[in-house]
Order: sequence, then C-alpha cells, then structure tokens
Amino acid sequence: MSNRREFLLKAAAGSSSVIAGLAASGLYPRRIFAEESSKFNRVAYRRLGSTDFKVSEVGFGCMNMRNPELVHAAIDSGINYLDTAWVYMKGRNEEIVGQVMKDRRKEVFLTTKAITKDAGKLRGQMDTSLKRLQTDQVDLMLFHVINSRNQVLNEDYIKVFEKAKSDGICRFVGISTHSNQAEVLDAMVESGFWDAVLVGYNYFSPKNVRPAIEKARKAGIATIGMKNLLNPATNPWQELDDIRTGENKQIKKTQALIKWVLDDPYVDTTVPGMTTFEHLADNVAIMGMPMTFGERRAMYRFGEDIKHHYCRGVAGCTGCMDKCPKGVQICELNRCLMYANGYGNPGLAWENYRELPESSRVNVCNDCDECIVKCVNGLDLTQNIKQAKELFA
Ligand code: SF4
Ligand code: SF4
Repeated sequence: MSNRREFLLKAAAGSSSVIAGLAASGLYPRRIFAEESSKFNRVAYRRLGSTDFKVSEVGFGCMNMRNPELVHAAIDSGINYLDTAWVYMKGRNEEIVGQVMKDRRKEVFLTTKAITKDAGKLRGQMDTSLKRLQTDQVDLMLFHVINSRNQVLNEDYIKVFEKAKSDGICRFVGISTHSNQAEVLDAMVESGFWDAVLVGYNYFSPKNVRPAIEKARKAGIATIGMKNLLNPATNPWQELDDIRTGENKQIKKTQALIKWVLDDPYVDTTVPGMTTFEHLADNVAIMGMPMTFGERRAMYRFGEDIKHHYCRGVAGCTGCMDKCPKGVQICELNRCLMYANGYGNPGLAWENYRELPESSRVNVCNDCDECIVKCVNGLDLTQNIKQAKELFA
C-alpha cells in the first residue's frame, strides 16, 4: 500500500469479517467502548483518564511521519489521538500535522510537548507549537522527558503549565517520562496537578511500573503508553523475523508488542510511530483484540532473543541510575542511541542529546577505556559508550 486511497479500499474490504469475529467472541474488556467511526466499525475506544474524551486505543505517534495523507487516512479510519512535539524534526513534524489540523482539528484529540527545562522558555515553545499546528488550542500539552519527583513537583514549571491552561492554549496538561517511571508516576499522584502521563511502558518494564500506572489511572490521570516497540540502543543489531509461528501466522512482532500494552486495562491509549500505510493498517487491525496464548509465547521467545540488546531505561529500568562515579546517566545516553539506531533517525538522536545536562555528555567518558558500570540486564555498556562517542563526541 503506497497511498491513502489504496489503504481505504483495503480497510473497507476487510472490516466486515473483523466485526463479525469481535461480535461473536464478545472480546471487549471492561473499559473499551466499541463505537462506529465515520467509515469503519473496527476501531475500539477507551476513556482518556478523567476527561470526557474517548480515544482510539491505538493513537498515532507522528514523530517520524512526513506524509500528511497518512494522518488523513488515520483519521478517516477512526484513529482520533495524535501525538507530536515541539522538538520533533526541529518543528517540521508539527508543521506537517498542522497541514491536516487546519481542516480537521475538531476530529482529534491533539497532543504536543514542550521540552526545555528553562521555565522562562517553556511558554515560548508552547506558542510556537500552536502556530505550527495551525490551531489556537491543543487538547494536551505535555512537559517532555521528565524523570524525577523534583521535576514533577517543581512550582516554577507548574505555574507555567497552569497559566497555559487558564489562558486556554491547552485543555489538559501532563508529563512524558522515559526513565524512572514509577517515581515520576507516584509524584504525579502526589501533586494532584497533572492530568495525563505519556509513559514508556513495554514487555520489559520493571515490575514496579505496572502498579504505578494503575495507581495513577485510579487517581484519574490519563495514561498513554509509548516506547512499546522495543527499539534497540546499539548496533550490531540482529534483525529478527516477525513472530509468525504456528498458530500466530497473522500477527507481526509490532502488533504483538502493542497488544501486550493494551492488555493492561489501566492504559488508555498508545502512540506507536507510523510512517507507512502498512503500519496504519497493522495498527487498525489489532484494536479490540486481546492477546492469545500463542502470541504470549511468541513474545517470550522474542524477549529472550533481544534481552541483551535492548536498554530497558525507556521502560522504567533504574538499574544503572547514579552508578557512574562521574555522574553520567547511561540510560539517557542509550535513549539517544536508540533514536539513532533503533529508529534510524540521527537527527532526533542529536536533538535529544542536546537536551541532556553537561554531566551526562559523552565527553565526560573520555578518560575511561572501559565503562565500570554494570548493566543489570547484561548490556555491554563499554560498547554503548563507544558508539555514543562515535555519534556525539
Ligand atoms: S543500561 Fe541496563 S541497567 Fe541501565 S537502564 Fe538500560 S537496561 Fe537498565
Ligand atoms: S565510561 Fe566512565 S564516565 Fe562514562 S558512564 Fe562509564 S564509568 Fe561513567
């Protein structure tokens, strides 16, 4: 599929059999609302936290998307949650989304993110985002890449987001967190201020992340899962086949990974990145479909293959936090490497690397031949630091 028309024709042709299968099996978990979208009946929706919105359980992570027709097709298919950020593609990503929003703003729940940790510059980023998105209000404004209790509770930051809300440039405010998730989520509940969280959450998340998400959701915070797709931080990377074995011939690795996250009833939606019409068709197809036993078994096998290549920092692992004697947060470096190697997007890697504090830059590592920090999950961190030096030094 290379264009919107082809996608719509194929999706329309396939929709009736899926609907019949769902109706017969009575598969909807308790918080899913099956509703007709404008053109299809196959999209499932969940309530977004304590808002009145019902959003498609798979949203659209726009980060690497360059084709506005793909956004049109996603909205046509019933997807109504869009995620972008001030920092993506140096602003170009918001502009592409804006090309669609100028006509279809009311059809979606629109989220963007401000990233600077300089409270005085936050509002400027927000205003720029609105202009690029061709709207005077987004639904959700997230504070991007927050990884500590202190940042969540910081009064200077809260004041800026409170003002953004009272000025009407956003309806809700929230946080995105790529590391130390349990601490961040607990602090959000404690603060009582934030409405939503975009949280790194996947098959490899540490055990404390799932209950922290449940606690946050029960406190009324909208929960949006990201980093579902296990992108590795480092090369060499052995490309693994889709997990289509035995009874799972129809399921792809990416579909199973998203289904694993959606299996958690305390997750309201997810935002996997989509850059092709195939991605869109794959993601539309899994909504409302719980995981099978066979898919779980295949996930386990895939996990065994990848476990020493994938940094779980973006899923909530804190195993190497504060372990470097010089103060480097290796999971943050790994996250930047993941954008370069896993996403194939060196520009995004650089944009995120530039936001790291000086204490976590690779030049701090110049005197180390070997990294003395040990990864609790068996990653070769000397190798990671070497690659980070090649890319960022
Ligand atoms: S490098 Fe290892 S210990 Fe550190 S966050 Fe990644 S998986 Fe966890
Ligand atoms: S290479 Fe040295 S400075 Fe860099 S993270 Fe490892 S121990 Fe810290």
